[in-house]
Amino acid sequence: MKQITILGATGSIGQSTLDILAMHPERYRLFAVTANDSLEKMEALCRRFVPVYAVMSDADSAQRLQQAIADLPTEVLAGEAGLCEVAANEEVDIVVAAIVGAVGLMPTLAAVRAGKRVLLANKESLVMAGALFMEEVSRHGAELLPVDSEHNAIFQCLPPNCIGHGIAGMGVHKVILTGSGGPFRDMSVEAIADVTPAEACAHPNWDMGPKISVDSATMMNKGLEMIEACWLFAVDHADVDILLHRQSIIHSMVSYDDGSVIAQLGNPDMRTPIANALAWPERIHSGVEPLDLLQVSQLDFMVADDKRYPCLALARQAWHRGGDSMAVLNAANEIAVEYFLDGRIRFSEIPSVINDVMERTATGPASDLETIFDADAGARRLARELAQQRA
Ligand code: NAD
Ligand code: MG
Repeated sequence: MKQITILGATGSIGQSTLDILAMHPERYRLFAVTANDSLEKMEALCRRFVPVYAVMSDADSAQRLQQAIADLPTEVLAGEAGLCEVAANEEVDIVVAAIVGAVGLMPTLAAVRAGKRVLLANKESLVMAGALFMEEVSRHGAELLPVDSEHNAIFQCLPPNCIGHGIAGMGVHKVILTGSGGPFRDMSVEAIADVTPAEACAHPNWDMGPKISVDSATMMNKGLEMIEACWLFAVDHADVDILLHRQSIIHSMVSYDDGSVIAQLGNPDMRTPIANALAWPERIHSGVEPLDLLQVSQLDFMVADDKRYPCLALARQAWHRGGDSMAVLNAANEIAVEYFLDGRIRFSEIPSVINDVMERTATGPASDLETIFDADAGARRLARELAQQRA
């Protein structure tokens, strides 16, 4: 019986994970769940799974949750200390890192430092602190498994020791990341400028949280994923191709020197990569329908155009600059997306805010957490200022 902590249990990835756990009560026991402020969802979750711990972001909501579930044995904790405690607790075997954004870094690192099997959905933590994060994975013998569908696909297409060790000697020609192109892939570049948050969140193939949905529409998501792939598989961005594939059936591929291309296919449902990472190297039911290729019938591929998706070029630039530039990119993007979702800047201003933040920020080292969080905070301040001027 494996004990599981889900960081970000009330979100889209959190819910998909809970679906799978509920299918396999003989394999998994929910040890802890965490959420930002969704009190009702957390109460329902605690009543259904009766975890040992539940963690809320602030003391006030923690207190309200504790009152609401006073009849349960579940103990309620608060804040980053609570998140890190349930991520590192010695009874825990597997931590699902499914908090959105840079706030996920410390609890995910706590799980890594405690040597857990870490199912990484929170790509932002790897983007902002990749070098340090991967060092900690190897120092503490953590078992890092990607949940992001592309990276999980690549993981399935490579030899099993690919994480963190580099793919040199594996005969790999290219890693090919696929992306659907988001909801605006067929719209004119002019028309995209004024799309609404609701339109940006209506992804054609995937059902996801609001931030990653906007990232998918700008394709910053694919930019972040390019960086994520570079850290996970120890490759350079020149080794990673990005390919538009509108059906989201091929989740990514590896092209080998002998001409073989290995792809992972499936219906676009995050329960597949989550189940793969939970049970690896075994295979378990995830509740996902078997893929019907006759029904799909056609697989299309297109080039990802930097004009339509300027965020791709920004992500490549950040990787080139190295150091804390990726933390700056990530932080500026988080703020720009927040302003867009609040209706305060236009969709086309997301890349322009990020670009201006990057242009005005000198690249520094990313050697320790303090410098990374300084870069993150500085980029957030500047991004707010620049977004405010456009609002
Ligand atoms: P979501 O918005 O649906 O859920 C986010 C979760 O994080 C919620 O449980 C929320 O309570 C928690 N959270 C938010 N802010 C917090 C804070 N300040 N402190 C503590 N907890 C906080 O997001 P999601 O779509 O589930 O995505 C989660 C992560 O997984 C993201 O990093 C995303 O990029 C990644 N991811 C998601 C998908 C997907 O299909 N949804 C696919 C690949 C990767
Ligand atoms: Mg993805």
